[in-house]
Amino acid sequence: MASLRPIIAICGTTGVGKSKLAVELALRITEGAVVINADAMQVYEGLDIITNKLPSEEMMGIPHLLMGYKKPGEQYVVGQWVEEAARAIDGIHDQNKIPIVVGGTSYWIQHLIFPDRLIGKGSGSPSTSRPSEDLLSKLTSEERDLFEKLPDSPQSASTDPDGALAMYKLLQTLDPTVAARWHWRDTRKVSRSLKIIAETGRLPSDIIAEQSETDLTARYRTLFFWLYAEPDALNPRLDQRVDQMLQQGLLEEVRLLKGLKSPIEQTEGDEKDVVDYTLGIYQSIGYREFDRYVELQNTGESQTAYELAVQSMKQSTRRYAKRQVSWIKNKLIPAVLRVNEGSVVGQTTAIYVLDATEVNDSWDDNVLRVADKITRDFLDKRSLPNPVELSPAAKTQLVVPEKPLRPSDALARRRKIVCPVCSLDPDRPVMIEEGEQWESHQRTRSHQRLARRRSDRQESPELP
Ligand SMILES: [Zn+2]
Repeated sequence: MASLRPIIAICGTTGVGKSKLAVELALRITEGAVVINADAMQVYEGLDIITNKLPSEEMMGIPHLLMGYKKPGEQYVVGQWVEEAARAIDGIHDQNKIPIVVGGTSYWIQHLIFPDRLIGKGSGSPSTSRPSEDLLSKLTSEERDLFEKLPDSPQSASTDPDGALAMYKLLQTLDPTVAARWHWRDTRKVSRSLKIIAETGRLPSDIIAEQSETDLTARYRTLFFWLYAEPDALNPRLDQRVDQMLQQGLLEEVRLLKGLKSPIEQTEGDEKDVVDYTLGIYQSIGYREFDRYVELQNTGESQTAYELAVQSMKQSTRRYAKRQVSWIKNKLIPAVLRVNEGSVVGQTTAIYVLDATEVNDSWDDNVLRVADKITRDFLDKRSLPNPVELSPAAKTQLVVPEKPLRPSDALARRRKIVCPVCSLDPDRPVMIEEGEQWESHQRTRSHQRLARRRSDRQESPELP
């Protein structure tokens, strides 16, 4: 573990100052540092306003990799980025410099630091063997026939309930643990579980249990900074930034992007150059909202369209910021906790909240100086402060979610149980998820009516 090489990762919402912090921190790292972009929009070339790229003079000579090198309509997915980022990081480490990964696309960062666990890890490559005779011997001859000829696509439970139930019973016989998770009407999940058994010869519940034992590991010794601002302070800043982007020429970029579409469409047959209007930069906040305005611009409706677009871009930006925070809380922090066995600071990974709620005068004290000190301790492998003690924001934000962290814990929850009262026809069992859903099901009018009718029938005294 100690041999893992160090990286710094800065995440947080849009407009909170991540790029600025990356550069300021890089300038203070004596080994030298290189910034790697982890923002899905900033990988596209040009269009500096719509993508919020840091102006090159503000990069202060710090190299920025994986930035501005894709064409606007090009599809670019997480796997490609992870591969390219990992290669770039190796290069930076080989020069004994420190990589700083920075960007708002937290799930990219997450996949980079915590590589996917593969099915069948520990037993070599995913196995493709046949199910054992031992397993198959549990099946009746009808079940065996069905298992040998699983349909390519799952049938619909409403048009073929008998078929759906037969598939469900087959799964119950083969892997009761995983069958308990699905409703028999959920033919997509039932069919997928059966296919895993047919194709790998292994039970889905075994695969899940094994994944739980394979502890999540970090690819690098990682110091996360989560740059955080209270929504009440952040939202007006985000609004202001939208206005600023418009002043700087956002609409020119929207027109440019729209313009890219038409000339390229004329080169028919040359698929390589076709700009996909739904991909990449065309998904960016700002483009979507002003697309219509640009079309209406010379008509009488344009003023209203403009105001609507501004409002809608501000709303989208706030919503995006909210989603970014929930990703960090619900995915990133749980992963850090798993790697560190329940702690926010461990041997390989640590996460700190930096409070950027107040800007201007407080930035140096609350953000930069704190980050710089922790970075120095991290790089020199000295002991690190307790993240929760760092600021009131850290204390409230770094809370451990109560969700199950391990896949096998998740499997043990949300089991479906058959309601004996509502299941009038044993071939059409009514299944309800245990816990809250079961509790509220028992209070439904239809369940209570049936329960009453049943007890009336049972308790009515026989007439002499
Ligand atoms: Zn019921």
